[in-house]
Amino acid sequence: MGRAVVHTQAEQSVSASSGDRLRLEGVSRLFGDKAAVRDLSLSVAPGEVVCLLGPSGCGKSTTLRIAAGVERQSGGRVLVDGVSVSDDARHAPPEARAIGLMFQDFALFPHLTVAKNVAFGLRGMDKEAALARASAELGRVGLAGYEASYPHELSGGEQQRVALARALAPKPSVMLMDEPFSSLDHRLRDAVRDEALALMKEAGTAVLLVTHDPDEAMRMGDRIALMRDGGIVQIGAPYHVYNHPVDRRSAAFFSDVNIIHGVVNAQQTDTPFGRFLTPGLVDDVDVEVIIRPQHLKIDMVSEGRPEDSPSNGVAAAGVVERARFMGAHSLIEVRMAPEESVLTATVPGAFLPPAGAPVWLSLRRDRCFVFPCAVQSVVEFPYFNREGGLQGGLGYALDADGDVRPTPIEASEADAKTPAMWS
Ligand code: ATP
Repeated sequence: MGRAVVHTQAEQSVSASSGDRLRLEGVSRLFGDKAAVRDLSLSVAPGEVVCLLGPSGCGKSTTLRIAAGVERQSGGRVLVDGVSVSDDARHAPPEARAIGLMFQDFALFPHLTVAKNVAFGLRGMDKEAALARASAELGRVGLAGYEASYPHELSGGEQQRVALARALAPKPSVMLMDEPFSSLDHRLRDAVRDEALALMKEAGTAVLLVTHDPDEAMRMGDRIALMRDGGIVQIGAPYHVYNHPVDRRSAAFFSDVNIIHGVVNAQQTDTPFGRFLTPGLVDDVDVEVIIRPQHLKIDMVSEGRPEDSPSNGVAAAGVVERARFMGAHSLIEVRMAPEESVLTATVPGAFLPPAGAPVWLSLRRDRCFVFPCAVQSVVEFPYFNREGGLQGGLGYALDADGDVRPTPIEASEADAKTPAMWS
């Protein structure tokens, strides 16, 4: 009879070659009657990094805590390596899930040496083997020789690496990270997180990482799951989520955006920058044309009006209000005629036209996103002529973000002649 080779549960799961390492299926979490997470499904493949990104309070940490097992979901289930670890019938605690955890507050034990801190997660292994594994892990994170040091003798970045070695030592299938690098200064953060990522990818570990920082998500994530109000509004590769946002708020989460308003007429919307096709939208619907500052093009008036083109549309006239040098790029605010809105453009390097300089602005039309306005409610104050016909008025539209937009009520000649009906 051949000799049985016994692996720990975590080692067995890392050696599996296919299938999702982590899977959340229809997970919800209610606190009282408020849903912190609602019907959320997500999977993470071996060696993949998925970032949960979103504003404060959208449910990122609760989702991670459910995956970890420190929080139990109100509905749905969690699978690690294809095996349900939490559902209506059972709930495995974190230590039984083949997962590693790294939180912002990574709390090393101050009274234990670095090697013992790392070996702490290797319960079940004999002491010698655990310390040897700890030493090997410390070598992988660049801390060979620090075994006998105590945490207080290390810098913040070194302590962070010890925490990483401790989380990686049991060779988890899944690593769950909640803003793990946010306590480090930004240069150290870049170095430590790139190293950490390389190690986890090499080991085939699936990583679910929480961040509210879009740059961090773009830098680290193979996929970004953009969250809002407890659910995922969009998931995909960083390029996709950045360049194909599902709505204005998704676009605006990654950068400042310019918003140009228009109204649909015959499936098209006219703007100062030319006409946009808006198929599927009925007449009189307000739309927003969204464009990031780097996709606005500025030409000085002295250079002549840029020709209309399918790619840049129609140039619109404006006046420079302010220009600032930001290092890698310059930021130019332009007041547009005639509706007086201010649009912001960024230009690589130093470009500092004086305030008051007349310019032409054009849009990279392939980089514009056109969305119907998410108007929540409209309050209208019409006024009538002596005959009771509609003369005009002012309306206020409240959008989903709580922004209030004045919208004049325009009355046609026919409206003015038609007495309003009062009930
Ligand atoms: P942040 O980026 O600020 O950490 P988050 O996206 O991680 O936010 P969560 O911490 O998951 O958000 O919280 C989501 C919502 O659930 C919030 O409204 C929060 O107040 C609520 N919540 C979280 N934990 C609890 C709890 N134990 N009891 C009651 N409400 C909670």
